[in-house]
Amino acid sequence: MFAELSRRVAEKRSQGIDVISLGIGDPDRPTFDYVVEAMRAAVANPSTHQYPSNRGREEFRDAFARFYRDRFGVQIDPEREVIPAIGAKECIYNLCFAFLDPGDVALAADPGYPVYTAGPALAGAQAVPLPLVPELNFVPDLDAIGEQTLERARLIFLNYPNNPTGAVVPQGFFDRVVELAREHQILVVHDNAYSETTYDGYVAPSFLATPGAKQVGVEVFSLSKGYIMTGWRCAAILGNAEAVDSYWRLKTNIDSGLHEAVQLAGVAALDGPREPLEQMNEIYARRRDLVVTALREIGVQVNSPRGTIYVWAPVPEGHTSTSFAELVLDRAAVVISPGSMYGDNGEGFFRISLTTPDERIAEAVGRMRDHLT
Ligand SMILES: *Cc1c(COP(=O)(O)O)cnc(C)c1O
Repeated sequence: MFAELSRRVAEKRSQGIDVISLGIGDPDRPTFDYVVEAMRAAVANPSTHQYPSNRGREEFRDAFARFYRDRFGVQIDPEREVIPAIGAKECIYNLCFAFLDPGDVALAADPGYPVYTAGPALAGAQAVPLPLVPELNFVPDLDAIGEQTLERARLIFLNYPNNPTGAVVPQGFFDRVVELAREHQILVVHDNAYSETTYDGYVAPSFLATPGAKQVGVEVFSLSKGYIMTGWRCAAILGNAEAVDSYWRLKTNIDSGLHEAVQLAGVAALDGPREPLEQMNEIYARRRDLVVTALREIGVQVNSPRGTIYVWAPVPEGHTSTSFAELVLDRAAVVISPGSMYGDNGEGFFRISLTTPDERIAEAVGRMRDHLT
């Protein structure tokens, strides 16, 4: 389906049509100057030129401990409770191999980031979807998970602020997750890709700030989106020391760690000023408002998200995710992501990414308004 959409986009572009993509979630702005400067200095330092340690540089682990203390009120032991990851994607994938055997189950938010289902499948295990629906504010109904499934479950993947729905975590939900995980001995993997990308005064919590969370879970913190560092592959896993150690043991057999200059750039990002992040969030909020207003004008019932770089909305009556994405492409030459790309429960929705320059977003929503009403 995705290949078919890409083929159509390429065809239109070859005909000279100006196609605007609102599909991919990859920030359009450059990485903050102070991070680039730190990288320049770090890469000139010969101590970063050898094989990195898979445990991570002390500066990196200490910076994360400071950041988690100051930003989330979470105590992290830099010796045992944090190591670098080559992006959240690598980390989530390898966690599947560290924790899942054939026959095991991973509970995966659906719609969700595709590695939550591909990782378990490649590890020979089974991903069981946890439906995220608007009626339940896009949190899974934990009481609806069957006993047999819970018995086989080893991992649960959650992510708030959420890609693709833009939902934020309701009060008390993480507490219930901790309870469930404790009762059924499931490792919680909270994918924290968007805690620094929020709007309207909303401040996102860390899962690890939940009482008891460190006993049952880990959080994967990625610098990709919030710090505009998708190309740098800079993330960390934090939390339960035993789980971090299992991941480390697997990982030492697979890769040789995160470039130490990138680790030092990550330190600069975490220790850096908040203003650039706030300015970036103001830009996204402005784009979000443009998109939400235009969608409402064409009759789409859409909630304005308080976090992430996505607007998630239901397709108009009579459409599937794919048929609507095709219509928007044909009529407006705008690419949107069919919700069904993110799991069965994404059917009936579409996702718009806010990572396109302002004037292109304005042009895209203008075209949608003109050609879809
Ligand atoms: C973008 C994204 C990631 C990717 O993180 P990397 O650190 O770049 O691998 C992970 N999870 C979610 C939910 C994302 O949207």
